[in-house]
Amino acid sequence: MSKKILNTAFQCEQCGAWVEPLTNGSFRNHCPYCLFSKHMDDKPGDRASFCKGLMEPVEVYFHSKKGYQIVHRCTSCGKIHKNIVAENTVQEDDFLSFIC
Ligand SMILES: [Zn+2]
Ligand SMILES: [Zn+2]
Repeated sequence: MSKKILNTAFQCEQCGAWVEPLTNGSFRNHCPYCLFSKHMDDKPGDRASFCKGLMEPVEVYFHSKKGYQIVHRCTSCGKIHKNIVAENTVQEDDFLSFIC
């Protein structure tokens, strides 16, 4: 099995937007428009989860070291994930409208 993390475009299952891969060296795991994610990982980036449930954004908060983070909750199994927002890339996260 290859351990390469896929960094490919995908279509958001929540809003239908076509989401391009990040260009800032990180990899995308949530939609920049509706901020929904998908339960793909057991640990961040491992893509090992069998759940594949939609993860809804429940909170955005500012972490003094890591910057803005989005808290996702899986609508299938209830698992909580924290994600750093995508900035300095194509299709930056529209997280400010989530806060306001
Ligand atoms: Zn979306
Ligand atoms: Zn799940």
